[in-house]
Amino acid sequence: MKIAKFGGSSLANADQIRKVCDIISEDHSRKVVVVSAPGKRNPGDIKVTDLLIRLADVILSEKDHQKELYSVIERFRGIAADLDLDQYIMDDIESDLKARSSSDHSDRSRFIDLIKAAGEDNCARLLTAYLCSIGKYAKYLDPKEAGMFLTDEYGNAQVLPETYDNLKKIAEYPGIIVFPGFFGYTLSGDVVTFPRGGSDITGSILAAALEVDIYENWTDVDAVYAVNPELVRNPYAMKEITYDEMRELAYAGFSVLHEEALSPAFRKSIPVHIRNTNNPRSAGTVIVRRRRNYEGMVTGIAGAKGFININISKYLMNREVGFVVKVLKIFADEGIPFEHMPSGIDSVSIILKQANISSEKEKRVIDRLKDELSIETINISRNLALVMIVGEAMAKTVGVTARAAGCLSRAGINLEIIDQGASEISVIFGIREEYCDYALRELYKEFFIN
Ligand code: ASP
Repeated sequence: MKIAKFGGSSLANADQIRKVCDIISEDHSRKVVVVSAPGKRNPGDIKVTDLLIRLADVILSEKDHQKELYSVIERFRGIAADLDLDQYIMDDIESDLKARSSSDHSDRSRFIDLIKAAGEDNCARLLTAYLCSIGKYAKYLDPKEAGMFLTDEYGNAQVLPETYDNLKKIAEYPGIIVFPGFFGYTLSGDVVTFPRGGSDITGSILAAALEVDIYENWTDVDAVYAVNPELVRNPYAMKEITYDEMRELAYAGFSVLHEEALSPAFRKSIPVHIRNTNNPRSAGTVIVRRRRNYEGMVTGIAGAKGFININISKYLMNREVGFVVKVLKIFADEGIPFEHMPSGIDSVSIILKQANISSEKEKRVIDRLKDELSIETINISRNLALVMIVGEAMAKTVGVTARAAGCLSRAGINLEIIDQGASEISVIFGIREEYCDYALRELYKEFFIN
């Protein structure tokens, strides 16, 4: 059995929905289909989820919301008309959207989630109606009936453990099951959503619960590439990548799947196959627990901007037991997460995302480090980029870091930080932000072209 999850671009209009139905029809093991809300039809378009968020905002500000409501109804109506669906489907979708819009909105976050979830929910109903109209046996499954129970963290929900057992019964249902992604229910029966992009998480939870052979994630790219395809023409398309490699790369800016989506599939070792709805013949990329073959020393290269490095030095730091704990406690007291922490004998660098530390917080932290820990020297370096090379084969190969460092030095890029991740599958270089894209191109040449 397979789970096939289709993203918003695969469901943006009637033509895309026809492609989705062809894909479902050609393989009987695609038994559970998870859908996102219709996405953008062209680069300037607005996703249904964003239209819904706008609708919720207007209702909450007690203004007339007819225009926003009809912009959503019309998106669905256009698709239903192009698919030649019966009028009753559109009547159902319209009355659902109206009922949600006029429901109690005294609790802001709960109301926003109820509205946001309408994109996936109605898309699933529409796809089911189309599958039935072309003679397939398909059933829309309400996440409440299925037992998809989540924490009551609106807009940021997490799966509750009992959900996995509840979902197992789906395996017994006949026909194709169409399951709306992105939302579930709290134990008290309210609609609650995952973070944005969360239909990937729904697919992964279903994959784990049903212990399927493969979780197919259908999107609009042929593969996961070894480097951002906006930087390099026709970059190498990976055939296989491990969950760990993917996790490292996602952290540094790869955004193929939602970050939290891998974990349920990972725990059950279910391979995740990234595929292209617009080009189903292409091989795609499979994310696995263990790789069978290594295509090269480095699997992927990624970079992210917007970091700050707070370097702390104190003579004989290594003699003060618990010193780093005290440093980190100051950051924790201020609610500031840190990303990396390379250290030396008398110094430690705390690398943070600039967006996570306001200037007031920064000042408070620095004052406390000086007053409470008598730190003598604090150097702050802003506008850093972290460039990362990732690959499981690196742990077993001599000289990869040296080769990367040599390549960056020949390119004239100064390395402010070098940090080999504890897992030995990644090496991070801290450089000035303005060199980030250049560094990525040079590293790509070094490991994939030379
Ligand atoms: N429709 C939701 C969003 O745009 C969830 C998803 O597509 O995965 O974030």
